[in-house]
Amino acid sequence: MTAAAHHDYYAGGWLRASGTRLLTALNPYTEQPATLVRESTPEDVDHAVGLARQAFTSWSAMETGMRAEFLQRVASGMRSRAEDLARSISTELGMPIKLCRRIQVELPISTFEQTAALLASYPWSERMGHSLVLREAAGVVAAVSPWNYPLHQIVAKLAPALGAGCTVVLKPSELTPGCALMLAEIFDAAGVPPGVFNLVPGAGAITGEALVSHSGIDVVSFTGSTQVGRHIMTRAAQTIKRVRLELGGKSASVVLRGADLARSVKHAVASCMLNSGQTCSALTRLLVAAEDYDEAIDLARAQLRTLTPGDPLDERTRLGPVISASHRDRIHGYVRRGIDDGAQLLAGGPDSPDLPGHGYFVAPTLLGDVRPDAETAQEEIFGPVLCMLRYRHPDDAADIANHSRYGLAGAVWAGDDREALAFARRLRTGQVDINGAAFNPAAPFGGYKQSGLGRELGRHGLDEFVELKSVQLPQPVN
Ligand code: NAD
Repeated sequence: MTAAAHHDYYAGGWLRASGTRLLTALNPYTEQPATLVRESTPEDVDHAVGLARQAFTSWSAMETGMRAEFLQRVASGMRSRAEDLARSISTELGMPIKLCRRIQVELPISTFEQTAALLASYPWSERMGHSLVLREAAGVVAAVSPWNYPLHQIVAKLAPALGAGCTVVLKPSELTPGCALMLAEIFDAAGVPPGVFNLVPGAGAITGEALVSHSGIDVVSFTGSTQVGRHIMTRAAQTIKRVRLELGGKSASVVLRGADLARSVKHAVASCMLNSGQTCSALTRLLVAAEDYDEAIDLARAQLRTLTPGDPLDERTRLGPVISASHRDRIHGYVRRGIDDGAQLLAGGPDSPDLPGHGYFVAPTLLGDVRPDAETAQEEIFGPVLCMLRYRHPDDAADIANHSRYGLAGAVWAGDDREALAFARRLRTGQVDINGAAFNPAAPFGGYKQSGLGRELGRHGLDEFVELKSVQLPQPVN
């Protein structure tokens, strides 16, 4: 277990929390404690926000090239501790180590590097008639992050916020604090000026609540559930804070007739099962034409059989446990109610044999004949549960895909890319991958509808942390 001896909270250096409450993050495979942190109290949060406000003046005025240099140094520090970061995330989250290295660690390192590079070409000022339009740092940012991609979600806020000249107070998920503690050590070693990055570990109801309600915060950047996002908006409203929300999803993969059925089913299964289904943009609804439906089931079942749950630290494991016992039970509850509601259990399910003897495992599960308005097709289950739906006409497929309060991601498969692109335009979601195209970390990421507000990553991610100032010029100034 990692005992956080000097690690209570980080604000201009490591400090001891003023409270005594200890929080334990469990290893979901061994069911034993993985990391222990002392919770930051509202007084500690107040102290960190005060330091971030002080540091804002010089950090926001710093020449962008120097800020880029600091971001690069943090990226190098992360690279030198990449294996520690991957093992910490795998241990607290349960995602297989091999996938952790590539997705949970490599991606955030390159986000820091790409943001540093972007600062040189970002339009910090532009002429518009007789005005000079300036892009200036939006202020002090409260970053609140979830457990499922713990480092990536932190960095998707931190890199652009710091690059824009904002200072940040971060509250990571209490279930996966390890990588945030390491990140603070990396910032410390990189010599980033005190107060620019601050870390306050703790639970949402105490530390998170104090942070998002604090009058010294200008921007709240939150990733997590739609329910908590809604609550945070109301707290932020008191002082009209800028609110950026990355929330839940219930994304559809639509397979049009003439598409490569084997590739499309394999892609949907892989997307849905990645990180044991705990991915906001997971393709959890698979929409297949009635004529192709039975063949698609056979293909999906065969693909699921290749996923054997096991020890996340074993290099061969492709499917780990879910985050907690309560989350496992919640997922099983959805599946049971789905079956009671008429869905067909085609693979996996709550009573599956062959799961490891310990750990919070959910068998890879396939539900068939799911009705578009059933709970399982509407709610974010956030587990390894793929729902299959059949459609009769492409217009029905578009209606079913859009019949959701969420709008985060989607996929379209068709016989040719032009047809897939035309269909992609009909989807009310922030991301659509056509014919198996890969994720692009430079493109804006975020949701329509109740999947969020604002965008992360790339140039558009930086836009979220600037304010616009129009300066009217009496005569041209160079
Ligand atoms: P959550 O909403 O329970 O918690 C997210 C964070 O908010 C945690 O740090 C938590 O401590 C904090 N929090 C909880 N209550 C709070 C409060 N009252 N005030 C301030 N902070 C509070 O979400 P989770 O279970 O950690 O993550 C899973 C959810 O995150 C899923 O819904 C998933 O779809 C979503 N998610 C979305 C994206 C995206 O980019 N759209 C990415 C990852 C996860």
